[in-house]
Amino acid sequence: MNLLLNDDKNFAKGTISFPATKRFDVLVAGGGLAGFAAAVSAARNGASVCLIERTQTIGGTATAGLMNLFYAPYNGLTGIGKELFERLVAKKAAIPDETVPFDIEQCTLEMFDMLQEAGVRLLLDTWVVDVIRDNADIAGVCTLNKSGFSAILACRIVDASGDGDVCAAADYAYMMGRESDQMMRPMTLLFSIGGIDVNRLVSYVQENPSQFAPDPNQCIVNMELGELRIFGFFDLVRKARENGDLDDTFHYFRIESIFADKGIGTVNTIRIYKVDGTSGDDISAAVISARKQQKQLLKFMRSYIPGLENCYLLTSAQSIGVRDSRRIVGEYKMTEDDITDQVVFTDCIGIGKNRQVLGFKGEGHSPDGGEGSEKDTVIREAIADYVEYQIPYRILIPKDSKRILVAGKIVSCDIMANKHLRNQPPCMITGEAAGAAAALSVSSGVNVGDIDIRRLQVMLGIDPTLI
Ligand SMILES: Cc1cc2nc3c(=O)[nH]c(=O)nc-3n(C[C@H](O)[C@H](O)[C@H](O)COP(=O)(O)OP(=O)(O)OC[C@H]3O[C@@H](n4cnc5c(N)ncnc54)[C@H](O)[C@@H]3O)c2cc1C
Repeated sequence: MNLLLNDDKNFAKGTISFPATKRFDVLVAGGGLAGFAAAVSAARNGASVCLIERTQTIGGTATAGLMNLFYAPYNGLTGIGKELFERLVAKKAAIPDETVPFDIEQCTLEMFDMLQEAGVRLLLDTWVVDVIRDNADIAGVCTLNKSGFSAILACRIVDASGDGDVCAAADYAYMMGRESDQMMRPMTLLFSIGGIDVNRLVSYVQENPSQFAPDPNQCIVNMELGELRIFGFFDLVRKARENGDLDDTFHYFRIESIFADKGIGTVNTIRIYKVDGTSGDDISAAVISARKQQKQLLKFMRSYIPGLENCYLLTSAQSIGVRDSRRIVGEYKMTEDDITDQVVFTDCIGIGKNRQVLGFKGEGHSPDGGEGSEKDTVIREAIADYVEYQIPYRILIPKDSKRILVAGKIVSCDIMANKHLRNQPPCMITGEAAGAAAALSVSSGVNVGDIDIRRLQVMLGIDPTLI
């Protein structure tokens, strides 16, 4: 099948026809942590499930993006997230601490196992490129992979694409960036290094406390558990900037998920501002800029940081990390006040628990830049504290949606609530809930907004005394 060029600018997309080869109860678009949890949950609740993922792996930002730090205390984990990390801890592939660094390859293997055990049909290397409508609503998606275009039909769809691609194609409303100017948090190409002299690095951190973020939960040196997370090196970065060895973007150096016994860690320091993760051009430009920053950082680490003199580039993320993207306008828009006021929701589908800066509503990744600079009170001064909050079901339902739910970092909330909800643990909570709700919606033959919430809560093991 070829596309016809109508004139110099347009081709005829409306006339494409291709076979609808498959039909499922629940289709999950995107196999990040949210989509993984949604697919497992829907399948365990009796639905036939297809999980469609554009890469050849599972885990999204957490694995292909190299973001191997599950940001919640291990003893506060619930549901499928708890199950996954218990499996990893049993294999010594995750550190059960206040946050949970994990081994990316082991995590990936475990997720593949759990999907197979649940009976999920996995379609990898496949993009969801559009939606298909019937007379009533959205009836499936159009996909593209090595076999070409095809149509996959489903009773319910969970959009876990991290960008709201399905919802955007279905014309559901969405928001982007902060409310005042739509500016988004910076992107980061994460990369891992090996060859860390951990003892030398730790000595430097302990001998120069003023050079590091004061928050003991952000800057962690726990040699007993073998966990290291280090934010700062303020003076060394300033000196490198003054010497022309680092450009003006850099104000601090951050390395985390250091596994002390292996001498490897993940560098989370690249910052690319004013780019949009839903623009192909912006992503390409961001990756090119990120590679330039990466070269500078490698030189900086070897020349300036005690303990990193012999470090080497182990691997780079397959995809640049996009912190902000579309957030769907849902039946309810969660706010940061809901979180800090610990609002009780009758449609609660899970409890988020993480450390965040309270008291002043800090943003650790301001779109304005200057992250880690003298003016950045979040990194330079703040001490984070635990916050525990209920997550309502309605933030998973795009406004007026009958058959589509969302999960993960795209749920309906303001930009500051997104600071919490975009973390991996809540992404798994909303994924698990969306999968169970989609299965329930199919089995009870009602729209996603009309399911029996109490039944959903029982399926999710929500403690009724909380509500
Ligand atoms: C640099 C960075 C650092 C972070 N640090 C932390 C941290 O320390 N701790 C923490 O808990 N969280 C952290 N986060 C946040 C967290 O990792 C992510 O928000 C979370 O993993 C998002 O999960 P998700 O499943 O919603 O989306 P994603 O991980 O983005 O997954 C979406 C999946 O959908 C696929 N996909 C996208 N579009 C399509 C399509 N059209 N068709 C088919 N497949 C598609 C993608 O390939 C991907 O696999 C960080 C994020 C970034 C970017």
